[in-house]
Amino acid sequence: MIFETHAHYEDTQFDQDRDELLRSMYAHGIDKIINVGSSLETVEKSIALADRYDFIYAAVGVHPSEIGCLNEEAFDWLQEQAKYKKTVAIGEIGLDYYWEKEEKVREMQRTWFCRQLALAKEMSLPVIIHSRDAAQDTLTIMKEAYKMQIPGVIHCYSYTAQMAEEYVKMGYYIGIGGVVTFKNAKKLKETVEKIPLESVLLETDCPYMAPEPFRGKRNSSIYLPYVVKKIAEIKGISEQEVMKVTEQNAYRMYRLKK
Ligand SMILES: [Zn+2]
Repeated sequence: MIFETHAHYEDTQFDQDRDELLRSMYAHGIDKIINVGSSLETVEKSIALADRYDFIYAAVGVHPSEIGCLNEEAFDWLQEQAKYKKTVAIGEIGLDYYWEKEEKVREMQRTWFCRQLALAKEMSLPVIIHSRDAAQDTLTIMKEAYKMQIPGVIHCYSYTAQMAEEYVKMGYYIGIGGVVTFKNAKKLKETVEKIPLESVLLETDCPYMAPEPFRGKRNSSIYLPYVVKKIAEIKGISEQEVMKVTEQNAYRMYRLKK
């Protein structure tokens, strides 16, 4: 079975067929799903999904591009959501300098990133990190998180293989999704080759990042076998092995029992 560690099923792109699609997951070999919040609204919706489906768990956190909604009151609310019985992580949190060019706002991103890391520590939860065009600042902050013994995953990993190895040394997982199937994804393929399978988590980031041959279309967890196939090919191992080990990794990181 496959453990999907990063999905956004609350997205309106699933409005037409959400229930039918989710109920077909098991038949497609998808055993567990983490629905990841990125704003106050999607945190609430992630929890509603976890309430409704026993195989769905929630991650609660505010994405760097959404921090405008945060203040002390909102942060208190977020902390309450972190106490929900099926909340398994704080995320997605991090830095996004691709969409944000202003230094003052980037500074705010760092502030709320660190506050949410502290929340993870307080709640004894792992973190799901979003980082785009912010390699150095993310690494600096995650080195502090490592010292605080906060476990986690660098989701939709997009930096160098060498930097991935630094994260792996600290015990962080590397989230691999549809991008690895793209022809031009040289850096990510090199990353998959270099890091041990024991540090890889499977994820879609659906409805985004559909793998080949569905690139550009709506993504969902049922396309994860294409990611499995590519990882198996790169590492020269069986698809069974990729599924088995990444599933064990996810159970370990999210402290769930089978
Ligand atoms: Zn995401």
